[in-house]
Amino acid sequence: MTYRRCGKSGLKLPAVSLGLWHNFGFVDKYAQFRTTLHTAFDQGITHFDLANNYGPPPGSAEENFGKLLHADFKQHRDELIISTKAGYTMWEGPYGDWGSKKYLVASLDQSLKRMGLEYVDIFYHHRPDPETPLEETMRTLDLVVRQGKALYVGISNYPPELAAKAFKILRELGTPCLIHQPKYSMFERWVEDGLLDTLEANGVGCIPFSPLAQGMLTGKYLNGIPEDSRAAKSHGFLKKEALTEEKLKQIRALNDLAITRGQSLAQMALSWILKDPRITSVLVGASSSEQLLDSLKCLKNLEFEQVELDKIDQILRG
Ligand code: NDP
Repeated sequence: MTYRRCGKSGLKLPAVSLGLWHNFGFVDKYAQFRTTLHTAFDQGITHFDLANNYGPPPGSAEENFGKLLHADFKQHRDELIISTKAGYTMWEGPYGDWGSKKYLVASLDQSLKRMGLEYVDIFYHHRPDPETPLEETMRTLDLVVRQGKALYVGISNYPPELAAKAFKILRELGTPCLIHQPKYSMFERWVEDGLLDTLEANGVGCIPFSPLAQGMLTGKYLNGIPEDSRAAKSHGFLKKEALTEEKLKQIRALNDLAITRGQSLAQMALSWILKDPRITSVLVGASSSEQLLDSLKCLKNLEFEQVELDKIDQILRG
């Protein structure tokens, strides 16, 4: 594993981190995700990303992770960076969603309880709230750090201008933003349009989520939709309809290119993101340890020839 500095902070993160959005809920198999977690740690993945609502049901990924942590990893707490978030719907009524102080404080307390932790390493505001004043949300992030419930804070899904405002408020409060978590993959490149520059200018790290486009940027859908895949599961966030003929054509062409580089498509998709030094870590998901081991091999080749980059752009333009 290689570790990269997160923006201008003192913290380094593994170049590949593991997210627990899917595959770690009560609907999933304990023995299977236990093995995935062990594989991750044994391979040097020190960062595990959660959120209040991961499951299903919401909260169950944190509960499962807490159980595993205490059973198998208790003595390794100081080797781990554990993050959680609040910002999406978590409970009924006006205090279980978005970005108020009321919601964020209560949600973090619940997350700590579910995971059996005294503190998380990173607490994120999960998505911008168009109604709550940004000051209130950022003050709350500062507050939880001062209370010792989080060591660092981050934001997720914030567009560049709003992110810059958030960074300024946090800096003035004395709790600089550590990291931004945006969606970024070959299929979704909005971060290239200003966000990465804003992060660099503010010394904030970047950890893209869904770098494999939820599995579409792997070989798994080349010959149809496997029964145990995310697209086939009723609770999976990836819908079958996303696999259009146009997408599949691009996936096939990208897969051919990956072969010429001696990589799997998953590996090429991750290398392609990590080639940019502004990226701290790619946040992958995995439904098995075999997948994770395959993805991790991306680290063996992060270099791209200009012709390869041009070819990728050409494929993605359709
Ligand atoms: P990915 O794009 O990495 O998709 C993961 C899925 O791809 C796996 O579940 C698996 O699908 C498939 N896969 C992974 N590796 C391979 C491989 N080597 N070969 C074949 N298939 C593979 O990421 P996610 O969408 O899971 O997101 C990653 C993390 O990002 C989340 O767990 C979460 O922590 C974070 N996230 C944050 C969000 C935010 O708003 N901040 C939103 C979404 C995610 P299958 O299950 O079908 O086997």
